[in-house]
Amino acid sequence: MIEKAKQILQQSFGYTSFRDRQEEIIKAVLEGRDCLAIMPTGGGKSLCYQIPALVFDGLSIIISPLIALMKDQVDALRLNGIEAAFINSTQSTAEQAQILRDVKAGKIKLLYCAPERLIGGNNPLLQWIKEFNPCLFAIDEAHCISQWGHDFRPEYLELGQIATEFPKVPIIALTATADKLTRQDILSKLGLRNPGVFISSFNRKNISYTVEPKLQSFGRLMDFLREHDNDSGIVYCLSRKSVEDVAERLREEGINALPYHAGLDQQTRQKNQELFQNDQVQIMVATIAFGMGIDKSNVRFVVHMDLPKNLESYYQETGRAGRDGLPSEALLFFSFGDVQKLQRFIQVDGNSKQTKILEKKLKQMVDYCQVDYCRRQYLMNYFDEVFPDYCGSCDVCLSKFDLEDATENAQKALSAVARLEQNYGINYVIDFLKGSKSKKILERHKTLKTYGIGDHMTKESWQLFFKQLLRDELLVQNGIEMPVLALTDKSWEVLKGLKPYQIKRVKSRASVSKTGVEPMDQSLFEQLRIVRRKLAERDQVPPYVVLSDASLQELATYRPHSEDDLLRISGFGNIKVERYGKDFLEVIRLYCQEHKLKSRIHYKQGSNPKKATRSTETKEKSFELYQQGKSVEEIAEIRSLAITTVMSHLASYVSRGIIPIESFVDPNTQAIIMKAIGQFGTASLKILKENLPDTISYGEIRMVIAKSESIKV
Ligand code: ADP
Ligand code: ZN
Repeated sequence: MIEKAKQILQQSFGYTSFRDRQEEIIKAVLEGRDCLAIMPTGGGKSLCYQIPALVFDGLSIIISPLIALMKDQVDALRLNGIEAAFINSTQSTAEQAQILRDVKAGKIKLLYCAPERLIGGNNPLLQWIKEFNPCLFAIDEAHCISQWGHDFRPEYLELGQIATEFPKVPIIALTATADKLTRQDILSKLGLRNPGVFISSFNRKNISYTVEPKLQSFGRLMDFLREHDNDSGIVYCLSRKSVEDVAERLREEGINALPYHAGLDQQTRQKNQELFQNDQVQIMVATIAFGMGIDKSNVRFVVHMDLPKNLESYYQETGRAGRDGLPSEALLFFSFGDVQKLQRFIQVDGNSKQTKILEKKLKQMVDYCQVDYCRRQYLMNYFDEVFPDYCGSCDVCLSKFDLEDATENAQKALSAVARLEQNYGINYVIDFLKGSKSKKILERHKTLKTYGIGDHMTKESWQLFFKQLLRDELLVQNGIEMPVLALTDKSWEVLKGLKPYQIKRVKSRASVSKTGVEPMDQSLFEQLRIVRRKLAERDQVPPYVVLSDASLQELATYRPHSEDDLLRISGFGNIKVERYGKDFLEVIRLYCQEHKLKSRIHYKQGSNPKKATRSTETKEKSFELYQQGKSVEEIAEIRSLAITTVMSHLASYVSRGIIPIESFVDPNTQAIIMKAIGQFGTASLKILKENLPDTISYGEIRMVIAKSESIKV
């Protein structure tokens, strides 16, 4: 059955191979086993149930809480020639009734529905479906069942009924939330039976991570956007007001940007989102309200103008970049001012336990911004994954560092701690060093010799510097409630001038390497983008549903010239070639003519497994052998096909006048067959055969019909 799954992957979805653990998961589902699949956003969860749904005979039910996404998913499937539908509260009763009729008629293979439609209400689908022997249940966003997850939905609890009502039907649960509590909750609340649990790596290889100090961040944002001409991206801000400001300033700079936040009315929000999805607006400036329900695969970058509250949110937000697998960027502007702001936000009144958890998460977010080793390693470790200390595509890995002597500053900092009798926290020590006039600083401290000796550095630089001293164990923090700084043996060595203290400074930074990617023709890419937009408008779907950016890039790189070439491009299954092939080929052909360019499809790696079963291709193969002088019998033998099949292949060349009919049927026999055709018509080969001498074969009859039809034309 896994062979059939591969065939569907290639012919219906146009992909050459499975990713990560997709194959294992699909195999388990096909064996009828319950599964829990945990994969990061953009990892490719959908195929894990879509392919089994197509391998199985019968109806599969997909439960999803994201009503806004259902239509997109169904549109995308239909464009690949797959019979899918959704049913939810946005539809009229009549529309819903029509869909149920289609299900009844066996026209639907995949039915998407919201959990409340499946189980709740006075007309629950779950009972109704029983008649149709569903063959698979897929529960998307399965973390919604857990109160430990970040998106608990009570209606998900009801989904436990599926396992009891359908003891023999496999259930696959999918989520991008990995923590252990949520995972266990999903397994037990859904009542999965001896489930296979598949956890993919959370690493998003194609996203590069950069953190920069938040200094003149708007100017930096503009620089960044200039490097990303025409690319689609999201710029996240903490407040609605800054969303409005940034969007406005970008527009003043001539950049096609729109705002999105919960303060806008529903209509504006929806319109802005649609414009973004349809590639009519390049940049969405948004609060975190923007995201759920965004499936746009060609988001090339995500910028955070302000610090997120925790790494879970940060990772989810940056994860919206690069779902098509192409190189994408995550850029974050960091400042201590933001940390203080957030510290106020995360206080949960009357719940100090919860507050503590949130504070810890914020601290880890800050640590991520300050690490001087691979940021990806930090992220992966945070999500409980082991990762090497070099990724080659985060700002730290891409930087060269110099060692700089910082002994004097270290001595100033350490002596301040000593003077203050190792009795104060970081903020107090820094204010003291900077000679703050604040009343918070005790009068007797203001008379000490070290008071104000650190005024040459900003508060933020001192904060970073103290972090480094802590990490290098020149200082420790004692006390949990109110941590105070204390000296160590190492501090005394530096204080006494016995040892120097050095810190790393960025010397230069390389850009993300894009090796392995063939050079793409940018202006052809732009033209293809325009065609895609037109086709998307015609078919009323978002452009990335027609074809992903990754597919467009392949087109602009390899410049396919024929439909068979197209099948070698990722994302082109048989149906998409039929539906869109001509439009794209036309643009490529014209472009190549104009610029005197040739196809580069032969540079494309790997064979083309999608090709073999195409009918034109199979005809061509028979014709090729025929041209090499092989007889019909020999061709049939070589290709393990029936003689009549080979004859029918060659008949199409006869009908086009490419092969003379005399090669197969002598004139005498032709005349006899023509006479019979005059009498009985061509509707039934069988009738013709019965009314002709036994020596005349089906193949010969077919040839003469082909010839006669070519004459008619
Ligand atoms: P998720 O639901 O896990 O966020 P999706 O199922 O939407 O991710 O997949 C993300 C993108 O990756 C989609 O554009 C999908 O078509 C593509 N994709 C999934 N599996 C493969 C594969 N095996 N080869 C190529 N592209 C794939
Ligand atoms: Zn790295």
